[in-house]
Amino acid sequence: MKVLVDSALCVGHGRCYVLGPEVFREDERGRCWIDSHQVPRELEDQARLGEANCPENAIRLETQ
Ligand code: SF4
Repeated sequence: MKVLVDSALCVGHGRCYVLGPEVFREDERGRCWIDSHQVPRELEDQARLGEANCPENAIRLETQ
């Protein structure tokens, strides 16, 4: 699975990095950043939680 975050849509609610702290990180402005687009299988649930709970629909998942 790959995770993509549209920085133009992210406004920093923080739900993604609260619900999926091993996939999503918080930058200095409270917005989301990710250090790897590739999500290991054991963290896919965190990626799905973040995607499902982003109010801005800024997170997109790609499954191969
Ligand atoms: S939940 Fe969405 S809007 Fe909020 S920080 Fe994460 S990506 Fe950005």
